[in-house]
Amino acid sequence: IYTSAVPDVLLVNTSIFTHLFAARAPGDIGGFPASQSAFIDGPTGTALTRADVLNLALSFGYGIRDHPVTAPFATRGATALIYSANSLAWPVVLFGCAAAGLRSTFANNAYVGRELAHQYGDSGASLVITAEDGIETVRTMFSELGIPRDEGDRRTVVLGRDLRWAGGPAAPGLPGCRGLVTLPDLLVRGKLQREERFEGALAHETVYLCYSSGTTGKPKGVETTHQNMTTILDVMRPFFLSGQSGNRTAIAFLPFYHQYGLCLLLHSPFTLGWSVIIQPKFEPDQFCATIERFKPSFAFVVPPVLVILAQHPAVDKYDLSSVEYMLSAAAPLGADLVEQVKTRLLAKRPPGATCTITQGYGLTETSTATNLLFFGDADQKVGSVGPLCSNLEARIICDEEGTVDAEEGAPGELWVRGKTIMKGYLNNSNATANAIAPDGWFKTGDIVVRDKDAFFYVVDRKKELIKYKGLQVAPAELESVLLTHPDIVDAAVIGVESREQATELPRAYVIHARPQEIESAAGKTAFAQSVAKWIEPRVAKHKLLRGGVAVIDVIPKSAAGKILRRELRELAKQETARG
Ligand code: AMP
Repeated sequence: IYTSAVPDVLLVNTSIFTHLFAARAPGDIGGFPASQSAFIDGPTGTALTRADVLNLALSFGYGIRDHPVTAPFATRGATALIYSANSLAWPVVLFGCAAAGLRSTFANNAYVGRELAHQYGDSGASLVITAEDGIETVRTMFSELGIPRDEGDRRTVVLGRDLRWAGGPAAPGLPGCRGLVTLPDLLVRGKLQREERFEGALAHETVYLCYSSGTTGKPKGVETTHQNMTTILDVMRPFFLSGQSGNRTAIAFLPFYHQYGLCLLLHSPFTLGWSVIIQPKFEPDQFCATIERFKPSFAFVVPPVLVILAQHPAVDKYDLSSVEYMLSAAAPLGADLVEQVKTRLLAKRPPGATCTITQGYGLTETSTATNLLFFGDADQKVGSVGPLCSNLEARIICDEEGTVDAEEGAPGELWVRGKTIMKGYLNNSNATANAIAPDGWFKTGDIVVRDKDAFFYVVDRKKELIKYKGLQVAPAELESVLLTHPDIVDAAVIGVESREQATELPRAYVIHARPQEIESAAGKTAFAQSVAKWIEPRVAKHKLLRGGVAVIDVIPKSAAGKILRRELRELAKQETARG
């Protein structure tokens, strides 16, 4: 059993809200001056101070519980589904829900009605908080769930693009949202005297529900507790302090609905007294222009964004010299890519300037990081995800039964145990039991090696999960969508690697119901292409079959009927080699 060389942090038994906002000294908020800027809207430059975030969150918490339309759906312990691109409203709503004692669950803002309906139903949500551009999809979702339009509308709160209310009096309402409760409507009603408390044992109550497919199957609600969150934030603090420079500003374009964005972009910087520049999405020119304008010292990235920094012409048009530290996580990062980005960025800086790119590893189920490569070690251990974080134990298991620990330096599945492991998958005791052994070990499904200096390397993935640009794609979900195609009788989805884009791409193998109709190579190609098009309106964009579709005669399966994905991955490699 491995442990961390970093001393454990003390466990806290309060709500995440209390942990973030409680004064550490008279007049401060969470240990930093109330007047300090906490979140800045990249496109408009509107800023929220720490006091604004606190006051607006308490106002939101009051409003949602007091407004006659939302009140019945916003009792302590109820769940709100947040469905919006990154915006300045996010911290207000997220922390406002926590202040009101609500749980929140987060949906990809590109989800279609069917995907949203699954999450709303599965999470037991009673309310949806959506950006204006999501209203139609939310209405489709309610109709898919058989909920009448007027009831669905009562359960909907609209954020609106207009951020003039930020830090000042609320705007009078949002055009186009007549009949729906809006964020400004909720903010003008009053303010909670204090947040709902989750002290002692109540700190083990669930506060966030991100969705993850885990090792197998469809996306499941990951129950992240108040104590999971307070612990991971304290655990990560020394890591971030190793990458902190004078201006303490970070750029945040990674989606807040994913655990990485949620925890590291919305929470961590707040606990460190940093400012976060919020970008609604990633677009190379806009990203570079925003860096030039706000001069952040820290950037949270994923490997495909580093590919853009290595190659895209926008990088030459703007001054990116403020960025001293970058953290990449959510997918494997190669040493070559790190080198290319550094060489390109440093070429434009004075001699002696530095830009350190490091890597973290973790899962939604582990409340993000289990491993972080401190900035001071990044240049010596390129490609490593760093040593184990504090407050965790780890094993590297090299047999199927889960009894044999790998020799030093040999590969095996990473198991971790500690206070940052999720409570379980919501209402899914089978999946929870498969993921967490009775003695508390959580099985990551990733294959790692640990070197003699205690640095870990992620070398392979044992589970079926596919990651497209850091976002999860569950093969089981795509397969079940493909099986609703009238001409498909069986389907299997795997990930294929794209080195150029530093990501995996979902690829489908399908069996036609009447193979004689598509016997020729041209017939098969046409059918495959039609399937790739057919799925487009049915799933969020990151799940599109960018790795292609191939028609196949039989899908390799085990005697128990399990798809033999490794064989399909081999087949895909051969197909690529043949071109
Ligand atoms: P998610 O729960 O969406 O964050 O996905 C977690 C999975 O992403 C892990 O189980 C890994 O397979 C993968 N992952 C995360 N970080 C890394 C990394 N630094 N290197 C390789 N794979 C990673």
